Amino acid sequence: MSTENKKDILRGGQFLVKETKCEDVFTPEDFNEEQKMMKDSVKEFVDREIWPKKEEFENKNYDLTEKVMRKAGELGFLGIAVPEEYDGLGMGFVSTMLVCDYISGATGSIATAFGAHTGIGTMPITLYGNEEQKKKYVPKLATGEWFGAYCLTEPGAGSDANSGKTKAVLSDDGKYYSISGQKMWISNAGFANVFIVFARIEDDKNITGFIVENDKENGISFGEEEKKLGIHSSSTRQVFFNETKVPVENMLSERGNGFKIAMNALNVGRIKLAAACLDAQRRVTDSAVKYANDRVQFKTSIANFGAIKYKLAEMATSAYAGESASYRAAKNVEDRIAIRQAEGSSHAEAELKGVEEYAIECSILKVACSEDIQNCSDEGIQVYGGMGFSADTPMESAWRDARISRIYEGTNEINRMLAVGMLVKKAMKGHVDLLGPAQAVADELTGIPSFDKPDYSELFAEEKEMVANLKKVFLMVAGSAVQKFGPDLEEHQQLLLAASDILIEVYMAESTILRTEKNAKRNGEDSQKEQIAMSKLYLYNAVDIVTQKAKESIVSFATGDEQRMMLMGLKRFTKYQNMPNVVALRNTIAEKLTSENEYCF
Ligand SMILES: Cc1cc2nc3c(=O)[nH]c(=O)nc-3n(C[C@H](O)[C@H](O)[C@H](O)COP(=O)(O)OP(=O)(O)OC[C@H]3O[C@@H](n4cnc5c(N)ncnc54)[C@H](O)[C@@H]3O)c2cc1C
Repeated sequence: MSTENKKDILRGGQFLVKETKCEDVFTPEDFNEEQKMMKDSVKEFVDREIWPKKEEFENKNYDLTEKVMRKAGELGFLGIAVPEEYDGLGMGFVSTMLVCDYISGATGSIATAFGAHTGIGTMPITLYGNEEQKKKYVPKLATGEWFGAYCLTEPGAGSDANSGKTKAVLSDDGKYYSISGQKMWISNAGFANVFIVFARIEDDKNITGFIVENDKENGISFGEEEKKLGIHSSSTRQVFFNETKVPVENMLSERGNGFKIAMNALNVGRIKLAAACLDAQRRVTDSAVKYANDRVQFKTSIANFGAIKYKLAEMATSAYAGESASYRAAKNVEDRIAIRQAEGSSHAEAELKGVEEYAIECSILKVACSEDIQNCSDEGIQVYGGMGFSADTPMESAWRDARISRIYEGTNEINRMLAVGMLVKKAMKGHVDLLGPAQAVADELTGIPSFDKPDYSELFAEEKEMVANLKKVFLMVAGSAVQKFGPDLEEHQQLLLAASDILIEVYMAESTILRTEKNAKRNGEDSQKEQIAMSKLYLYNAVDIVTQKAKESIVSFATGDEQRMMLMGLKRFTKYQNMPNVVALRNTIAEKLTSENEYCF
């Protein structure tokens, strides 16, 4: 795609008001040769170094995590996103997502160690560091010679990250800051060589970022390893700073810029966390399919039972949807970075702005994929029955490990509210025109519905119309809520959460359908029989969720005629002309899985 064409790519959040053609989305089937090779080598690494040692990871073998991370560094996996001039591989955003995806599937312990090191541990320096800082720290971090950790959270400052009490006091000679404070829940703390630490200077409104080397002679000490529900071999400790001296040249960016750094690091962290949930879903589904085929009850393989087919089909569908949406967004980010670079921005600036543009999608993906892996592993346990509850099978740890993804990188509640909040802000700044489309929906509601019989002969014609209608539901509900409450809308969290669920379903359903449509166009519909079924099944479920969330909102904030009109609109916008046979869809998907005896999409 030329830079000129790339300018037409959707801006962040615009998916809601613009139609996307299937040719314009990137799909996992579009990986180039280099990406396919990278995927294979990461998979081979995981199958050799991580998957066979699952039990050790469950037994709190922190040294093993460090060892595996060092090997990952030797193979270049820790430097994928780092520019070549700092000893990284300098690969594009899609490739960085891909490595994160495939390295994270076997255990949450490595997923977390990898994410904390390459993401929030390294990236703030690559993106905000000055040349000297980058030269000094990034090559060591990119190669795994050193490890990084990110110290933002404190006992009194979690979701309210800017409220930290850690202090940074400038010395009389102006040469160093003295940092004192308590950080908690710090991933990789047990083996990190360098910490990104956020602290407040004097009574500044915003915190400031610092690069702090680990040196126990310099007032740095640690709490015991936290006893956790999951990710048992991910090191998580409190870190105490007691008058830790940090040279002034180790301030990251400028004074008071720490909150911005922290939030931007989280944008990247969120989309990467979504990727980190994907291979876990594939592996869980894969194990469930194999077990279902093997396990015999009532003289038949349990894979033949409708109840099990239901689960396998839903598990595979959510994994497929997660992949579709994550790689779609990843390519948007990559293209936006390329546009910025072509316009003269530095790599760091381009990457920051490129990801920030899609902050809404990053939050959507973080929430959707973290909840999907949770549901998927829960159903995985159920497929295994009693054996699923046993620590001897991979389901038990997958379920426990999945739980953290809904909490870190901003809880799912915070991310849900952020997604809608950012969209409203973008509309106010004129970056996404919500007002025009919302008005059009309002006009449609008061107008006479068309009784023309639409032509649904083309693949997904009805489904795409349905997605367009779900977008109208969002505009109808969120539009009138904004009108009613104005800036006070942020006080109405339950409405924001419901609106966010609609937004999430729209993005996930649309991405899934577009991926399948693209592949059907190039390989023929016959080659996509099960993917078509998954796309239809995802949409069917999405319509249900949207209906429920929209109804809940409408009856809570609208009354009288307005309520009646919106409920009628909701009925109109969520009505299928031809209902899909949902059981048949699930059976098609499940039968493919069980005949291939693996997650085969
Ligand atoms: C295993 C693990 C590893 C971690 N790794 C790191 C790390 O490496 N570095 C780091 O800095 N931090 C790390 N964290 C911290 C993590 O980011 C925080 O736990 C998370 O941001 C939530 O903060 P909190 O725990 O203080 O919860 P709280 O902020 O107290 O939230 C409690 C509940 O209240 C809700 N809530 C809070 N505020 C609002 C609001 N305004 N509106 C509605 N609901 C709200 C939350 O969604 C949540 O459900 C880690 C945590 C864990 C458990």
